[in-house]
Amino acid sequence: MMNRLQFPSLFRQTSGWLLYILLSSMLTGCVSIEAVHDPLYRASAHTSTIIASASASLGGSIRRIEITVTEGRADYCKIRTLNGVAPSAIPCRENASRVIHTCEFPDSPKDAICKYPLDTHPTPLPGSIRDALVHEPSSFHTHPEPKLVTYSAMVETSSGLGISYESTDEITYAAGDYPPGLARPIWWHKEKNLDSKIDIALFPDHLSYGSYDFFLLDVDTVLKGAFLNAGQSFSKLYTQNRNFVNLWAGPFGIFSNGCNGFDPVPQYRNTDIQALIPIVALMDGKALFDRGRNNITCSNIENPGGWAVMDVAVVNNSGRTKAGYEPAHLFIHESGHFVHGFGDEYPGGGNYAKNLCANVFSTKSLCEIAGSNRGMSANTSCERITNGANTIDVWHRVITPPGPLDDLMDNKIQDIDWLTDCRYCVLETFTKCEAGTCFQ
Ligand SMILES: [Zn+2]
Repeated sequence: MMNRLQFPSLFRQTSGWLLYILLSSMLTGCVSIEAVHDPLYRASAHTSTIIASASASLGGSIRRIEITVTEGRADYCKIRTLNGVAPSAIPCRENASRVIHTCEFPDSPKDAICKYPLDTHPTPLPGSIRDALVHEPSSFHTHPEPKLVTYSAMVETSSGLGISYESTDEITYAAGDYPPGLARPIWWHKEKNLDSKIDIALFPDHLSYGSYDFFLLDVDTVLKGAFLNAGQSFSKLYTQNRNFVNLWAGPFGIFSNGCNGFDPVPQYRNTDIQALIPIVALMDGKALFDRGRNNITCSNIENPGGWAVMDVAVVNNSGRTKAGYEPAHLFIHESGHFVHGFGDEYPGGGNYAKNLCANVFSTKSLCEIAGSNRGMSANTSCERITNGANTIDVWHRVITPPGPLDDLMDNKIQDIDWLTDCRYCVLETFTKCEAGTCFQ
């Protein structure tokens, strides 16, 4: 039951299908399973652990967890097109082999964890599994060699009514040192069409990082804080819905040029431009990580396809950037701009939206019409955007009376979540992903 979509219809009448879920759960027992890998990606030799966690309720108990892992060498690849085949920045895999790791639970617990540690250093045993894409043999040598690892987990539970099974989605990720022209997957639904996922890539500012693994430490902090973090209000929605995203890392080759007004398109370093452009072209959103070179974070407002430049350096051991934000919170706010096309809900930001599903409005009446169309007029009102005495003639929806949380597109530092229109529109995008095309 994890990672299921929360439909926007939750804003409307929910009692009918909640009752249905309750009744069907009582009949079958209920189990959830999720699987993650840790660390998310390292280019150097390391041990990567795949962790499956299952939880049974309503009289069920856990008998067994199985983790299926497929591992092989990543390589250049061609994709089939209408005109034949074309080179792709998305990696293929060759000589892959598969193992199934099983954890048995004879004590029939309600909660169980199964771990599979994977040493990514040695060259894998020759296998016979090859991806279905058109493989392009290459002779590049990197160390440790680039790998693609795919995993999924399955739990077997028993209850008074028999045995049932639940599985996770398959996730593919990179390990080892990739050549520049290949995108490195961090959280990739390899078997699904790219159009049915929100593809976000992170790039290192080449003057900020002495080694690629230093960049990947920041990637770990930001992505775990945003997508593997059920404990904070700002990350809950992305964490619950992480199966609608693919996350990627790109190579060195871009340098941060600050924000340049509100058009922070980073500058390419000429030597690597050929390798970078095909990766950039595939993404629905891009973030360039910078460590204090410009001391600034900003995005352009696009839906999808924007860029963010983010200073992710944290001050001492505070876990917060110079501006006082957790890096994951900053990333989620910026993704509201560079993926969802939302405007800022405080004066002085980018106070316009580039999404038909907008969160800011030029008149009070447009705000009220949108609220009524979205079924969320109750307990909300349309107000001018204000921040103390500073007010502008742009409108947004606020909860009345105010709740404990502020909206992520406001610039508050703590106690934030996706609220009102932003929440509605992000969920609408996830619903479109579920139907096969996130952006259309
Ligand atoms: Zn903003």
